[in-house]
Amino acid sequence: CIMFGIWGHEKAAELTYYGLHSLQHRGQEGAGIVVSNGEKLELHKDTGLVNDVFSRANFPELLGNAAIGHVRYSTNGTKGIDNVQPLLFRSQTGSMALALDGNIMNGQKLRGELEDEGSILQTSSDTELLAHLIRRNGHEVNEETIARALQQFVGAYAYLIIKEDKMYAALDSSGIRALSIGRLGDSYVVASETCAFDQIGATFEREVMPGELVTISDEGIKSTRFSIREPRKMCAMEYVYLSRPDSDVNYVNVHASRKRMGKELAKEAPADADIVIGVPDSSISAAIGYAEQSGLPYEMGIIKNRYVGRTFIQPSQELREQGVRMKLAPVRGIVEGKRIIMIDDSIVRGTTSKRIVQMLKDAGAKEVHVRIASPAIQHPCHYGIDMSTREELIAANNTEDEIAEIIGADSLAYLSDTGLEEAIVKDKTINQGVCMACMTGKYPVTEEKKLDSKFTT
Ligand code: 5GP
Ligand code: SF4
Ligand code: MG
Repeated sequence: CIMFGIWGHEKAAELTYYGLHSLQHRGQEGAGIVVSNGEKLELHKDTGLVNDVFSRANFPELLGNAAIGHVRYSTNGTKGIDNVQPLLFRSQTGSMALALDGNIMNGQKLRGELEDEGSILQTSSDTELLAHLIRRNGHEVNEETIARALQQFVGAYAYLIIKEDKMYAALDSSGIRALSIGRLGDSYVVASETCAFDQIGATFEREVMPGELVTISDEGIKSTRFSIREPRKMCAMEYVYLSRPDSDVNYVNVHASRKRMGKELAKEAPADADIVIGVPDSSISAAIGYAEQSGLPYEMGIIKNRYVGRTFIQPSQELREQGVRMKLAPVRGIVEGKRIIMIDDSIVRGTTSKRIVQMLKDAGAKEVHVRIASPAIQHPCHYGIDMSTREELIAANNTEDEIAEIIGADSLAYLSDTGLEEAIVKDKTINQGVCMACMTGKYPVTEEKKLDSKFTT
């Protein structure tokens, strides 16, 4: 999912819409904006793409100087309008709206506790949990009640909360998910990816830190902490696939990191071939890196129909397969008779690679050597990225040779764990480290581990 928020701008809702639009690649199931005019909160949300949802919105009715917005792709929660965020809660003491990017691992347990105490939850998403936990800590929504609620969570998350006179942003204590802070004149902006800042002309200021709770209001910005700050474990898949190439994630540019992945891959897994091609759009940077390192020409062997969305983000396998067919086409004049190195950023279920190898062979490619710019994904993600069931992961159930056979490649190789880590963590003092649990099985946050290091205020 993605989030965007702005404080202190008369066109808050409209700028939030532009911000969300630039983050559409991260989810396509629904979008919403909550705006505050200082006295009350107004919500507009619906299922569908940002443009569809807000072409039906009436911006003059969404007046106010502050707003938060969200774009959804489903992970644990079910689909449908009820789970489209932000979620808005009204009460006699004031309203609050919340948006979440990530996953609360002990969400089911907390939900059970709340229900035992008599709470009735409206949605199946973890977002709502925070609202209930805050209220359980007292009537006021403030740093204290929010921090105490966040301390009960185990997981990976970025939260945005808005009430009439304040906005809060929080990041999990290992910083697995991401949230950046920017400035637009006198206003403050927060976003899941920095490309949203460029979109509206804002400048990047800093990252929200692991375990930090940021409060933004007319008085400015204030930082508190709800947890000890663990070494950062930024999600490696943000660099591999999820983020836009023009974004800087935790101070590292995504395109540049992908190029380094491609270069490293060329060193680790060369192949005799005539050209290097990448699967648009997310693998192009890595393919350019591979070509540069290997000295082979980079070619446009596959083109993409711009009017089809991201296939992975489609919730069912059937839609996903149809999506790949509609989305990608080989450039026959380029691939015919050639020995090709085809770079993809990752293999999850194997749908994309299999179709593309077939497509390239049908278009006359002599050989297709598949090179993947990340290690094999063998483990589920518990931190909010949708690849959670092990059965679906082709590399969890097949050896490299078997996968090569299944996808019809003449050869197959993945980038090594250290290759990926080094491509991302170019400066250890800033980056500290990444989460690569879906590739290595080493989970930086587990329910057991987290409870030991619980922080008390
Ligand atoms: P597959 O087709 O093997 O199921 O998925 C691999 C394709 O989906 C790759 O081309 C990659 O660009 C994209 N992809 C890989 N990992 C992720 C992920 O974690 N999230 C999303 N949304 N897409 C991914
Ligand atoms: Fe990202 Fe994989 Fe870690 Fe999930 S397990 S947070 S997808 S690196
Ligand atoms: Mg792809």
